[in-house]
Amino acid sequence: MLHENLSVNEKNHLCIAGRDTVELAQKYSTPLMVIDEERIRRNARIYKEAMKEYFGDGSYPLFASKALSCKYVYRIAKQEDIGIDIVSSGELYTALCEGFDLSKAYFHGNNKTDFDINYGIENGIGHFVVDNMNELDVIDRIAGEKGIVQGIIIRLTPGIDPHTHAAISTGKVDSKFGIAIETGQATEAVKYTLSKKNVRLDGFHCHIGSQIFDIKPFCDAARLMIKYIVKLKKEIGFETEILNLGGGFGVRYIQSQPELDYKEFIRLISQFINEEVRASGIKKPIILMEPGRSMVADSCLTLYTVGGTKEIHGFKNYVSVDGGMPDNPRYALYQSDYTVCLASRMNDPCDFECTVAGRCCESGDLLQENVKMPKPKRGEILSVLVTGAYNYSMASNYNRIPRPAVLAINKNGEDFTVIKRESFEDLVKNDL
Ligand SMILES: *Cc1c(COP(=O)(O)O)cnc(C)c1O
Repeated sequence: MLHENLSVNEKNHLCIAGRDTVELAQKYSTPLMVIDEERIRRNARIYKEAMKEYFGDGSYPLFASKALSCKYVYRIAKQEDIGIDIVSSGELYTALCEGFDLSKAYFHGNNKTDFDINYGIENGIGHFVVDNMNELDVIDRIAGEKGIVQGIIIRLTPGIDPHTHAAISTGKVDSKFGIAIETGQATEAVKYTLSKKNVRLDGFHCHIGSQIFDIKPFCDAARLMIKYIVKLKKEIGFETEILNLGGGFGVRYIQSQPELDYKEFIRLISQFINEEVRASGIKKPIILMEPGRSMVADSCLTLYTVGGTKEIHGFKNYVSVDGGMPDNPRYALYQSDYTVCLASRMNDPCDFECTVAGRCCESGDLLQENVKMPKPKRGEILSVLVTGAYNYSMASNYNRIPRPAVLAINKNGEDFTVIKRESFEDLVKNDL
């Protein structure tokens, strides 16, 4: 199967973490998201151990929690002793609910409000990743009012196009994120930051995009960042402590994509970085990385119940399910690839080609096109695999559809709810 936590049992049913998904769907009803907890822990450990081994002490992963932000995941991050990146006060609040130590948190975003900055400082955020000088002024002012010196790093755009989807490519010069090296504005920003009394510039950040399978864009970005660090040292005598290379490692969603060996990836990138650093004579920075997708995506699948099947003779077939863009908007947003299977009859011949549609009043509400599976009957269980990242965290209540329940399976094979299914009362709780 696509990942080693997936299998098929003697009943011809799909299993995750050894548990029968059809039974789980019966027990909890659908739509249902099922997380294999050990998979998240395994991913966290791979990153943590590889970064320590290859980049040295002080280097560790920050889970980009926008991929899946909920108390349960911050609890795992805390137990596995990794850092986090957050992009809003809401994510920060959720992490605080689990008592997450915010000295290991980085606050991102291209438009932090005054509220966000104040909230972050009040709660002892370790670093802001500064996107522009307007927000730097606010950080400096609020830190000054509170009598502290706030740690920051500056987000730079190294000018890399990793050839991924435009909406998830972020390192180009004209990106809405960060400050361009190429235009000279980065150096102005560094000088300006160094003139401020209440912030401490600890380093730099870049993030080139997402769902990248090739090592080259990461090495290119690292080279440009190191070149820039050398230039700053020569020109203004500034030495960098932290180099944060962002996230972006690819995840296998479909059979034709590779399954990356993240440890090997980190080893190769570290080799490259260590050579560049040695040749340039700068002090070796602490390297941070921000895996989001690759930390959680392959830990989870979504289960739906099949409703209607429609055969439009001479055109195409539709299979409709009881979820769709409200729980997974990624196909509608970026035509993302997913593997779809009929969880209740895994090894039957896949002789029915169809488009899998959600239940919303929106013709773009599709989960996948050109799917081949056994022709399903109403009531059968269909699964979309690898839905741990950017699914629940992007979910909405469009058409007043409650968000699904999220279930976890722990290493003993026990199932427990980690996010309750929304109720109709939840849907109207803010309506006056
Ligand atoms: C989205 C994002 C990440 C995570 O990217 P993945 O592709 O999910 O690993 C990391 N850092 C920043 C700044 C991001 O915007």
